Amino acid sequence: LRSFQAIENHELGPGDSRGVDGPLHITISPDHLEISDRFVSAAGLLGVRRVSDLNHPDQEGIAYAPRTIYKGRRESAARAFLRPARGRPNLQIETGVTVERILFEERRTRGVSAVRNGNRVKFETSGEVIVSAGALASPVLLQRSGIGPAAHLKTLGVEVIYDSPRIGQNLLEHRLLMMHYRLNRPLSVNCELLGLRLIKNGLRYVFGQSGPLAAGSYDVGAFIKTRADLDRPDVEILMAPYGYSFDENDQPIVLREHSFHMFGYPLRSRSQGSILIKSADTTIPARIRPNYLSNAYDRDVTVAMFQFMRRLVAQSPLAEVISEEIAPGAAVETDEDIIAAFRTRGHSGYHACGTVSMGGPDAPLDEQLRVRGIDGLRVVDGSVMPTMVSANTNGPIMAIGWRAAELIRQGCNR
Ligand SMILES: Cc1cc2nc3c(=O)[nH]c(=O)nc-3n(C[C@H](O)[C@H](O)[C@H](O)COP(=O)(O)OP(=O)(O)OC[C@H]3O[C@@H](n4cnc5c(N)ncnc54)[C@H](O)[C@@H]3O)c2cc1C
Repeated sequence: LRSFQAIENHELGPGDSRGVDGPLHITISPDHLEISDRFVSAAGLLGVRRVSDLNHPDQEGIAYAPRTIYKGRRESAARAFLRPARGRPNLQIETGVTVERILFEERRTRGVSAVRNGNRVKFETSGEVIVSAGALASPVLLQRSGIGPAAHLKTLGVEVIYDSPRIGQNLLEHRLLMMHYRLNRPLSVNCELLGLRLIKNGLRYVFGQSGPLAAGSYDVGAFIKTRADLDRPDVEILMAPYGYSFDENDQPIVLREHSFHMFGYPLRSRSQGSILIKSADTTIPARIRPNYLSNAYDRDVTVAMFQFMRRLVAQSPLAEVISEEIAPGAAVETDEDIIAAFRTRGHSGYHACGTVSMGGPDAPLDEQLRVRGIDGLRVVDGSVMPTMVSANTNGPIMAIGWRAAELIRQGCNR
């Protein structure tokens, strides 16, 4: 909690779970659209109470979603954390560099080898190497460098530096399904995202950082319990006041007719996938097995969540402005239909994590994010999470970065 509070400068002011002195601005949209208000009211009829801060500790409720947008611009991690530090004499930023391997002397890191503009370069260190390539790339980099499941690495001819069987296992993700609804009234922002209005709104964004392009994608968020006896929410739902489809080239296009969409996913999903290199050659992609919905818990919660979302759109004052469920469509009815739709027409939540996890004596990382068996190597990104967090992953990973910086500064490395 301390790290979450430390990173943020929350528009709602200080609170038990909020911070106001950090570099990352958190704001809540001041513009409330009628369709979003109707969505909130419909959820209220199902017992979901409206809250002012969706990230309050007990989590249950519905609200206009907090977002990392400040003065109309998305605040990325680079913008919030790196930009203020750019002038430091001990910081050099290199872009356009792809790290291929970590370099070792015995089991001590010595730096990394990388490719820049087609040329191989080396970065050497007498300190630590911090790997922050994300939950899909960090385990791949470690495996190619000889840290991972030894038996597998040997079959590929990779020299094993340390046998760490769980690197690349425990791949966790959220699985979601977009649900689109056609509206019988002009309540969505679709027309603002098409034709001349899109040009106008593009100019508003560029010159004034305002208008629909300066807003977050998803207006409203909700954390709900699919069963009354649960002690905390097990599902997250997000709603956006526009609808889209895909053209013949599989590119997303905004629908001409008024529509909105929503999606949901089980929060603490349990299905575990894996990521393993197929070759020592860095140009050959690794094999990713997400294993979505392989755990019965995820399937049960997904079905209950979908049924809740269908009940939500059947409530007034939402039901009377909806003319049709465009997707997945009324044909999706039974539990089997629902799971099949999530499997075949669903999306990743873009929340991959867990592949180089901490937690427990067998985990690849110790409690200070150091890679076990190696000196001078840490992992700091979404890979380190032992289980899926109860929310989106951007904030938690920034908090992990903040905490890791404290550990590194304290000189905790062996
Ligand atoms: C389209 C999309 C939308 C999302 N929306 C949200 C949202 O609304 N809310 C939310 O909370 N989360 C959202 N997320 C999730 C969130 O962005 C991620 O969970 C988070 O950014 C992961 O952080 P990370 O540091 O673990 O990895 P990343 O942010 O992926 O950072 C890893 C970095 O390492 C670089 N890299 C990888 N391999 C190498 C290499 N070999 N050499 C050099 N550099 C390398 C990558 O280019 C990347 O810059 C979204 C993700 C996506 C993709």
